[in-house]
Amino acid sequence: MTRDTLGRPLRNLRLSVTDRCNLRCQYCMPEEEYTWLPRNDMLTFEEMAHLVDVFADLGVDKVRLTGGEPLLRRDLDRLVRLLGGNARIRDLAMTTNGVLLAEHAGALRAAGLHRVTVSLDTLREDRFKALTRRDTHARVLEGIEAVGRSGWPGLKLDTVVMRGVNDDELADLIEYGGRVSAEVRFIEYMDVGGATHWSMERVVSRLEMLARLEERYGPIAPVVEETSAPADRFRLPDGRVFGIISSTTEPFCRACDRSRLTADGVWYLCLYATRGRDLRHPLRAGASRDELVEMIRSRWQGRSDRGAEDRLAMPERRPLVQISELKRDPHLEMHTRGG
Ligand code: SAM
Repeated sequence: MTRDTLGRPLRNLRLSVTDRCNLRCQYCMPEEEYTWLPRNDMLTFEEMAHLVDVFADLGVDKVRLTGGEPLLRRDLDRLVRLLGGNARIRDLAMTTNGVLLAEHAGALRAAGLHRVTVSLDTLREDRFKALTRRDTHARVLEGIEAVGRSGWPGLKLDTVVMRGVNDDELADLIEYGGRVSAEVRFIEYMDVGGATHWSMERVVSRLEMLARLEERYGPIAPVVEETSAPADRFRLPDGRVFGIISSTTEPFCRACDRSRLTADGVWYLCLYATRGRDLRHPLRAGASRDELVEMIRSRWQGRSDRGAEDRLAMPERRPLVQISELKRDPHLEMHTRGG
């Protein structure tokens, strides 16, 4: 097992398959136009599968497909089949905005995708439209309900909670999750690259979310479990479970075993990192498997990143990157490196 300077193993890879997205969420892609990664730089599915296999040599056994919007990458089920055939990947998941899910769910499940997480920030069509600047709320719900009905286990719904936007929907989302057999996870609004409209006032902390939910449901108990998963899980008095990802007010860098590979093959050790390691050039220049393993191993062994904790320690917190800088380097964008 490869460990970094804080003893954290390399286990979890978030693989962004495209930087393109079909929504323009205010907290992630607030601009209409972006500088996109050049098409020729995009890794092929074979290149992705090869790199994942190299990562598996170093201990990675969990892969999450993300983006941009992963379902915009054509024939994604072919990549799923390639990765699903890798016996060392114990957990193969995807995070999607759900717009194209209803039409692709069957093929992805058949190809070997283990589970799906859908981002759902609101149950209200008007809010969805204001938040995403697109009119596809009904399609997202259709996608979620298709997965729920099919009995595909492990469905999760991720909600970014923002004050004055959707923070009055926490209980409604839990109720909806119950109806579609999904576990809901509330994510604190993060000041990641891309979130140029972020402000601390907009963040609803884990403590506040719990207090509000206790008002509605009564005492909430933490679920005690040893895991590196970002969500802390809680149980309502009736037994239902939900999660909170408190990356802004109570970050969990100490247990972070995640790294991120962009669709053009740049590897980031932290969501907040400003520099990544380009793996595409060596790969395309014919680097051997051993050479790639060494590149990745040495980089991980030197890792000391604790991006979210560093952000928390800042006296005055503002958006991480300004728009002009993002335009110069799209790799700083959340939608390029995946959430
Ligand atoms: N398009 C896919 C989706 O919507 O799930 C995958 C990519 S998206 C970048 C991955 C996750 O990052 C989504 O759940 C999204 O809500 C989350 N995200 C984006 N910006 C965020 C922010 N500023 N704070 C917290 N979560 C954010």
